[in-house]
Amino acid sequence: MFTDTQKRNLVKICNAKIGSFRKFGETTETKHGPMIFQDNESDILAVAHLDFVCGPKAKLRKDRFGQYVQTGRLDDRLGVWLLLDVLPKLGVKFDLLLTDSEESGNSTAQYFQTEKQYNWCFEFDRRKNDCVTYQYQNPDWLKALDYCDWNIGTGAFSDISYLEQLGVCCVNFGCGYQQAHTKNCFAYFSDIFSNVKRFLGFWGEYQNHRFEHIETPTIGYRASEWLDYVPYRNYQDTTDNRWGAYTLVDCVCCGDWFEPDELSTDGYCDDCFDYMLGRLFS
Ligand SMILES: [Zn+2]
Ligand SMILES: [Zn+2]
Repeated sequence: MFTDTQKRNLVKICNAKIGSFRKFGETTETKHGPMIFQDNESDILAVAHLDFVCGPKAKLRKDRFGQYVQTGRLDDRLGVWLLLDVLPKLGVKFDLLLTDSEESGNSTAQYFQTEKQYNWCFEFDRRKNDCVTYQYQNPDWLKALDYCDWNIGTGAFSDISYLEQLGVCCVNFGCGYQQAHTKNCFAYFSDIFSNVKRFLGFWGEYQNHRFEHIETPTIGYRASEWLDYVPYRNYQDTTDNRWGAYTLVDCVCCGDWFEPDELSTDGYCDDCFDYMLGRLFS
């Protein structure tokens, strides 16, 4: 499991200003904020975004299910923490790209250019415990993920959606947070840890394997389409406008988006609530 120091580091990373991450690599300033690249001479590229939709500052909490961290910033500061503080200590080596403006559909990953040939690329910017590959549909890639117990879900967009020019497959792994884009967003350390463990399995098996990707410009979301995606319509203008503007919550069962008062007190949408009731009485 994680040490107390690591958990405190997570809180610090959640609460830090974007500018304070410049020290972790070579920074390119863009009109959508910084893009920070750390070259570790690795064949693998990891990405995380520094911007987030809402606060408040992170707190460590505990309930009968265990210890968890709570803040709207976990998307994607939890990913940032895994890449800066957790995986390197477990011997996982990768080049690192930290981006800005992902949440407004303008991830600074779009400015990343390199001569390097990577084997594959990953990020931890996904709620719960599955993974998404967006336009990266190489059957060998999907098979490899499945082989290492990663369920493949569907998602709309993230930093890696901008990295097709690398010519290799990318994946967005779940890191265990729930209710992203709300101030109640939280993640149990036990969930985070089990995802790290499954990642290590994948890493061990495939770190030296190159998964090619052929660019498919018609599949996947471009920024303009992304901004029509319902949860994002409230804060598509500037960084400042995004604060607190978000009101939709995902159903704890199906993950679809709803107004908060459309969900039961346990966080189920009507359909999932009926389904659970049906199971209870069948
Ligand atoms: Zn994110
Ligand atoms: Zn997000």
